[in-house]
Amino acid sequence: MLITISSEAPQSTRAAILLAAAEGGLRTQTMTNGRGGEVVAIVGSLPPLLGELPGVESIQSVHKPYMLASLEARASSIVDAGGVGIGGGTPVIMAGPCSIESRETLVDLARAVKAAGATMLRGGAFKPRSSPYSFQGLGLEGLQHLAAAREATGLAVVTEVMEPDQVEVVAGYADMLQVGSRNMANFPLLKRIGQCTTPVLLKRGFSATLEELLMSAEYIMANGNPNVVLCERGIRGFDAAFRFNLDLNIVPAIKEVSHLPVIVDPSHGTGRRSLVKRMAMAGLASGADGLMVEVHPDPERALSDGYQTITPDELAHIHRHGLALHEVLAGLDDELDETTIPAHEPVRITALGEEPAVVLSA
Ligand code: PEP
Ligand code: MN
Repeated sequence: MLITISSEAPQSTRAAILLAAAEGGLRTQTMTNGRGGEVVAIVGSLPPLLGELPGVESIQSVHKPYMLASLEARASSIVDAGGVGIGGGTPVIMAGPCSIESRETLVDLARAVKAAGATMLRGGAFKPRSSPYSFQGLGLEGLQHLAAAREATGLAVVTEVMEPDQVEVVAGYADMLQVGSRNMANFPLLKRIGQCTTPVLLKRGFSATLEELLMSAEYIMANGNPNVVLCERGIRGFDAAFRFNLDLNIVPAIKEVSHLPVIVDPSHGTGRRSLVKRMAMAGLASGADGLMVEVHPDPERALSDGYQTITPDELAHIHRHGLALHEVLAGLDDELDETTIPAHEPVRITALGEEPAVVLSA
């Protein structure tokens, strides 16, 4: 059940709802509703009489199973990650190496991605590698390099956490915790992350459905952390030509049912450097609130995922065109009326050397 209370509701209303839930043995979680009020999510049902308390705006007993993540609970969220607002505005670009390699290379790269338009630095210190024999990341030392890069550039930093017991230490360095694709359904990890307030980037499992992704977000939110951003990073397809397929359907589909910001990762989503630029544009066109891109000064030499990594110059190109695209598409989701339909010339189809044969009017 979702109960929305207005900003003018007296404290006694909130207290009465929480008390009624506690007496019924029902779990509750509250969060702001983006309109100045508050929403109380209750695992179970309370008597509808509560609707008569002053300041209760609505009671919804029928709602999505991911009640806190759903658009039924609140208006679109903007998640603040180290001063960077994700959602509802200019697209955010998170960029950096797949793995942190050394302090010097990370600090230099942080400067380069900042100059190329990135507002957040990414980089893995604890790496979930497919092979146990591959480079596993620098661990704690990598986190320290990340902190040095933030210090040098002012960029907010996002990095992966793989185990519940690492959450505290990683949150001590990061502005945003990344949950990787392989851990999207690691429920003990999600619960632990829910107990802190550090924003979370939750990557979609590569065989997870939209509902499973939102239920994983719900795990984090139900445990007290509402600061979740979702990330589409490609799903497994049948075609061996691609490591993964970027499933951009999910971006506008999430926006129809959830208030959470969504970003797109065209690096893991394609597995191929040459496809990153176009799919980054496609990601923005799909309505994403930002991009996560793997960048390295010398991608061929990167210690991991070099084949899908681009250079800072290529990132600058994506940034420039991405902002232009964002501007062109502003208003695409507005209600259609005559003033928002752009006027355009009739299309003329003319055979070579002939007078116009067919005129399709606009
Ligand atoms: C990464 O971002 O480097 C990463 C490992 O991503 P994913 O979990 O999406 O594979
Ligand atoms: Mn990677």
